[in-house]
Amino acid sequence: MAYSKILLFGGSFDPVHNGHLAIARAATNLLAVDKTILIPAAQPPHKLNQTRAPIQHRLEMLRLATADDDCLEVSDCEADRPGPGYTIDTVRHFRGIFGSVALLYWLVGGDSIKDLPTWKDIVQLADECILVTAPRPDCPIDWPALQGVLSEEQILLMKIYVLDTPQIDISATDLRRRIAQNLPIDHLTPPAVTDYIHTHDLYRS
Ligand code: ATP
Repeated sequence: MAYSKILLFGGSFDPVHNGHLAIARAATNLLAVDKTILIPAAQPPHKLNQTRAPIQHRLEMLRLATADDDCLEVSDCEADRPGPGYTIDTVRHFRGIFGSVALLYWLVGGDSIKDLPTWKDIVQLADECILVTAPRPDCPIDWPALQGVLSEEQILLMKIYVLDTPQIDISATDLRRRIAQNLPIDHLTPPAVTDYIHTHDLYRS
């Protein structure tokens, strides 16, 4: 029976950068998924009222960054959701679209593992999708943080799904700092995103 393999990748993307794109592309290939969907959070629960650019700008930058990439799509499914966007709701949204036999993966950076215990319904989430991890440079994965929260089987599965993605030392925080200091960002995000940031005067203050 034919089934879909879909990689979901949520984040603030404030703005999207080459680190996001590199792990999304590499994970797409390593997992041999049919497509990868990038989903900017309108209000990330762990960064409430902390995003800098409005969701419509973040969506548009993602669309520009992925325009030439057939495997990468952008979803606005969290854009209109009131309140914090919970991953479990987003996974269930895509489960509804792709059906019960679809293999759904959710991609996180290695630095996010320590935060998983605070995610809504994390135990159910780990059952309803496969949590895959892209290691982040200089950021050891905090497996002990998951002990007593997820089952041993769930943690073991997550350890199996630590991907050999390129480790790229870029963060949106650093990118925003560089813009505020008038430093070049051309090597950190695609040219179309750099142009968009300058045209719309984002992240200047
Ligand atoms: P900020 O610096 O504002 O916190 P960020 O660069 O971490 O942002 P997010 O949009 O918050 O970017 O990240 C979305 C997801 O991508 C998170 O799971 C994060 O861990 C992961 N991620 C971001 N940048 C990298 C990177 N360079 N390598 C691996 N994972 C990354």
